[in-house]
Amino acid sequence: MKNLEFFNRNQIHDFISENRLMAIIPTGSVEQHLNHLFIGMDINSATKIAEDLANKFSDNVLFYKPLNAGIAEHHMAFPGTISLRVNTFIGVLTDVVESLVRGGINKILFINGHGGNVEPMKTAMRNISLQMKGIYENIDLSKLKTHYDYEELLNKDSDIDIRFTSYWEMHNFKIIKNIIKDQSYPGHAGEYETSVALYLFPELVDNHARVSNALDTESDASKEKGEIIYNDAIEQYSKLINEMLEG
Ligand SMILES: [Zn+2]
Repeated sequence: MKNLEFFNRNQIHDFISENRLMAIIPTGSVEQHLNHLFIGMDINSATKIAEDLANKFSDNVLFYKPLNAGIAEHHMAFPGTISLRVNTFIGVLTDVVESLVRGGINKILFINGHGGNVEPMKTAMRNISLQMKGIYENIDLSKLKTHYDYEELLNKDSDIDIRFTSYWEMHNFKIIKNIIKDQSYPGHAGEYETSVALYLFPELVDNHARVSNALDTESDASKEKGEIIYNDAIEQYSKLINEMLEG
């Protein structure tokens, strides 16, 4: 895996200039996950997916993790939860995107593991994406008549490609709907997420607490389901990465 932080100045310069390149950034949360899952489940699952993809595509992918915590005010009743203010979270990630684009890395894929980050990030990344295209691409604006034309032109003619995804969206749902009984993706510490934890972090799942839980859906979880979910997410992400690298 190529971690951006482990390059020296010459190496990163050469890697950027010699390769079709993208950066993968995991985002997640540090928050309570009932009694049976660990507090860092969301950031650690997103990081594991991002690391595996960075390994698989190591000729073209840079890995960088700027933050562990996310937006988790709705979990603050439970100690150990760390919540960033929306402005803090969005501000840091917006600055990271701009830094990467200014350094010549035009393709950026966020792999998110926490539901609370989704709404703010969708809006923020759409905005920063347009902003980066507007500032750093030399697009001919002389014939534009409306702001719709402006957005269309930026989206069509730019090499800058910034995407925010959550791993539970990256599925062949014909497969996933067949195995997850409660049909809740990702849910919160329920069947889907507990299955992922049983596959990736079995030593961090408390099986006694699992069967007497407040949300009452996690007893259908299994390591086998987690493996199917995980492999399917990696497969769908691989298609997306190939598409972004070729674009
Ligand atoms: Zn979670």
